[in-house]
Amino acid sequence: MLKDLIAAETVAPEKCAGCGIPIRDRYYLLVADRAWHNQCLRCCKCLHNLEAELSCYSREGNIYCKDDYYRHFSARRCARCGNGISASDLVMRAKDLIFHVNCFSCLICGQLLRGGDTAGIRDGRVFCGEHYESEVLR
Ligand SMILES: [Zn+2]
Ligand SMILES: [Zn+2]
Ligand SMILES: [Zn+2]
Ligand SMILES: [Zn+2]
Repeated sequence: MLKDLIAAETVAPEKCAGCGIPIRDRYYLLVADRAWHNQCLRCCKCLHNLEAELSCYSREGNIYCKDDYYRHFSARRCARCGNGISASDLVMRAKDLIFHVNCFSCLICGQLLRGGDTAGIRDGRVFCGEHYESEVLR
């Protein structure tokens, strides 16, 4: 959703949806049908200020930055942690599964696995080469 910059001078001050204080600034932001001080529009997850961002996202009255929105509501989900995968996340793909790079680790020893490493996957579970042999192929 694109943000609209609204000139506030002609209307009675609206209360900021972030801090609750009436907005007396000349310009404020209108997002998700609510008014915000420029400095009050923050992602509810990472608290990153969204004033300078080109776009922000809202869901059920909460405001999200792009990354957090995708992380929580994306249709693409990490096969390990279950969180959504955002456009800027680095991912590992294995067969038809997709993982955050930090989630692509052996289930037994936790070793992070990279593209060149031997990894074994069984039923959506990831193992390093050693543990794939000892736990799965046994
Ligand atoms: Zn405010
Ligand atoms: Zn965020
Ligand atoms: Zn993950
Ligand atoms: Zn291992």
